[in-house]
Amino acid sequence: MQIPDIIIAIDGYSSTGKSSFAKIIANEFSFLYLDSGALYRGVTLFAIENGFINDECVIDVPGLEQALADLDLHFGAEGAYIGDRCIEKEIRSLAIAEKVSPIATVPQVRDFVDRKLREFGKKKRIVMDGRDIGTTVFPDAELKIFMTATPEIRAERRAAEMRAKGEDVKIEDVMKNLLERDYIDSHRETSPLSKADDAIVLDNTDMTMADQMVWLKEIMAERFGC
Ligand code: C5P
Repeated sequence: MQIPDIIIAIDGYSSTGKSSFAKIIANEFSFLYLDSGALYRGVTLFAIENGFINDECVIDVPGLEQALADLDLHFGAEGAYIGDRCIEKEIRSLAIAEKVSPIATVPQVRDFVDRKLREFGKKKRIVMDGRDIGTTVFPDAELKIFMTATPEIRAERRAAEMRAKGEDVKIEDVMKNLLERDYIDSHRETSPLSKADDAIVLDNTDMTMADQMVWLKEIMAERFGC
């Protein structure tokens, strides 16, 4: 199979299964998978641990901006790292989910993350998921997918995922967090979550992962002959 030299940008609402889908696509087409949300989550963990955001989500923007200059946040063998500390488990908690969207509204944070993400784009053959990949990070991505599903199914899926990792969560709390994040992500001033004009919508409410791969493979065959 001829593998095309393309970037696949996957955006959409919280917990629509973007990262699971992106990982399977990466595996199928031997692409590099990049989870942009992990970097926003990493900055959030850093901000909490260093007192740049308080319990009311008030952010010390000048302090955070200055500290970002020395923050070594990157991807490694097991996911996201700060220096040589793997932060993959901590950044998936509800405590981080509750503060990440306010942190992601800060333009200086978005600049910091965008610079890292665009470095990868030079290589192509990547699949990246997030909220603004097709609109802002890679507006020229050859394939853009915008994912959505009902809030109920999203909350169920996310709660099951968190429980499987040992976090004891209530479905109402997970749902509340998803809806709050969707609202903040869609209404912020800098790079809000929105469908790129040329993105294809994938509503996976009633679809299995296998259904989604059939859907994707048809598009890949049609558009890129693979
Ligand atoms: O994808 P994930 O749910 O891990 O993203 C966590 C949060 O990071 C989102 O709710 C959003 O606030 C922010 N984010 C963003 N832009 C991206 C990716 C994530 O603002 N490209």
